[in-house]
Amino acid sequence: MSTPSRPDNANQPTLSARSRLATMRARVVLMLQKLSRVVRSVLRTAGLRLLHLWRASLQFRVIASTMLLGLVVVVILGSYLYQRIADGLVNDRVLTARAEATSQARAAQARFDSAGRTDTVSLTQLAFDVVGQLSSPGADHSREVILTRAKNNTGAASVPTVLSSDVGLPSVPDELRNAIAADPGHQQVQVISIRSSDGAPVSAAIVGSRVNLPAAGQYELYFLFPLEREQQTLRVVARTFALGGLALVLLLGGVAYVVTRLVVDPVRRAALVAERLSSGRLHERMRARGEDDIAKLGKSFNAMADSLQNQIRQLEDLSRVQQRFVSDVSHELRTPLTTIRMAGDLIHDSRGDFDPSVARSAELLHNEIDRFESLLSDLLEISRFDAGAAELEVEATDLRDTIGRAVDSTAALAALRGSRLEVIPTDGPCVAEIDPRRVERILRNLVVNAVEYGDGCPVRIELAINESAVAVSVLDSGVGLRPGEAALVFNRFWRADPARARTTGGTGLGLAISLEDARLHQGWLDAWGEPGVGSCFRLTLPRRTGVPIERSPLPLRPDEEPSAAGLPDMTGNRPAAPSGGAQT
Ligand code: ADP
Repeated sequence: MSTPSRPDNANQPTLSARSRLATMRARVVLMLQKLSRVVRSVLRTAGLRLLHLWRASLQFRVIASTMLLGLVVVVILGSYLYQRIADGLVNDRVLTARAEATSQARAAQARFDSAGRTDTVSLTQLAFDVVGQLSSPGADHSREVILTRAKNNTGAASVPTVLSSDVGLPSVPDELRNAIAADPGHQQVQVISIRSSDGAPVSAAIVGSRVNLPAAGQYELYFLFPLEREQQTLRVVARTFALGGLALVLLLGGVAYVVTRLVVDPVRRAALVAERLSSGRLHERMRARGEDDIAKLGKSFNAMADSLQNQIRQLEDLSRVQQRFVSDVSHELRTPLTTIRMAGDLIHDSRGDFDPSVARSAELLHNEIDRFESLLSDLLEISRFDAGAAELEVEATDLRDTIGRAVDSTAALAALRGSRLEVIPTDGPCVAEIDPRRVERILRNLVVNAVEYGDGCPVRIELAINESAVAVSVLDSGVGLRPGEAALVFNRFWRADPARARTTGGTGLGLAISLEDARLHQGWLDAWGEPGVGSCFRLTLPRRTGVPIERSPLPLRPDEEPSAAGLPDMTGNRPAAPSGGAQT
């Protein structure tokens, strides 16, 4: 027997509806996730901005704190006052309600006492009449009335509970009924919550007392006074408080803004003037009018600026005199040096005719005259920089040619020292607007130093270009630099080892001049070195004059980038943690 098979498409609609539902749910979940991400990022950004503003602006801090404290005070004071007003209104109403209830209960008792017939029907009719009369719906102060048999009334005759409206007997709290039962001679009051005609919850004062119905015994008579009016008044009071509080907080914020501006503005001006002073505009002064604290600050600040300016002027004068002296001395020395040079050359040329000891002296004299000449020309160059007389002669130059010339002029020295000069080839031209004479001088100095302090190891010269700059690095694997020395090498006449013999006649001014040349180009000259590992000097120049360098296309430390890690080939070991770099 075969079971009847269900057609395949029988549950198709259910399946597709389900899958559509699932897709929709997934979409909604995705949208909610996206929304929550956006909200979170907006909140984070706003929070960060506020935090930044809080940290950066004294004015914002003062205004925000004042407004926050103002808000706290307004809320506390407002709540207290509101409570007092609410209590006063309710108490007043309860007092009038009690008085009303007393007189109305008395009037009701009088009606019941004067009732002629005491059968149930007549009494019930009378009860309805009395309740109808006692309640006054639609009047200014509406009140509801409930007449109900007392809890401990066990008499035979009974009048049903009479209500003036749909406020039912359950609205009367048990506590109140028990209190009346316990003390029938006295009126009892409570404030309860009932539903108004439109269903909204409303407070009401309920006043209960006892009346005596002829033949039917003790009955409880309740008057309900809705506190709608009082609540309305309280709503108006709350709204007024809220608006008044808000206005007060805003006003406080405004006052704080004005007051802080009075204080913060002069402080900001002082900060601006101090910034300008520190950037070299020594004639900048603060406005110091009046006799107040800000004026005193301004006066002291200006006095400080005056004294600073005087001292700087004196120092500048002194430095100018010194520069002038160096320049004059160098110039004055040129003429006698030329004569000494000529005489020295003559003696040097005829050294073959002298005793070996005199010939050696002639040799030494010749070398020292060479050194003297280089020192003099370096001193003159430095004094030109100091006097601000050095000028760039810029032309678009391919740095590969400049490197080529510098390498050619140092090749003889490198050969003498047994160093190989390795120029890493570049993909294309590296053209920049530079002064080729000065850049060649920098590179020559760097290469000579690398050969001299490279202990015969190869010297690697690398060239690179990026959007804003061209850079040349000269890397050697020689003595290197001790920690802190990378920053000192650019000082005039600074030498790591002053006693070191110099065959090419280094003056101790080479890197100082190179640094001035780099600065003239608005470029950087950086040094890095590690003892026993080697040194790297990197020159970075802007590609176009006046366009600042964003970053150097070459690393300073050999292990900074994989592309620059060529040291293992040359030294056999790569520095583990290079240090001692300095940018100038
Ligand atoms: P000079 O070479 O004439 O002494 P420089 O200004 O060129 O003057 O160099 C200053 C000092 O910096 C050198 O005496 C040397 O101690 C140090 N120095 C420069 N280049 C290197 C280098 N490649 N490796 C190690 N030390 C160097």
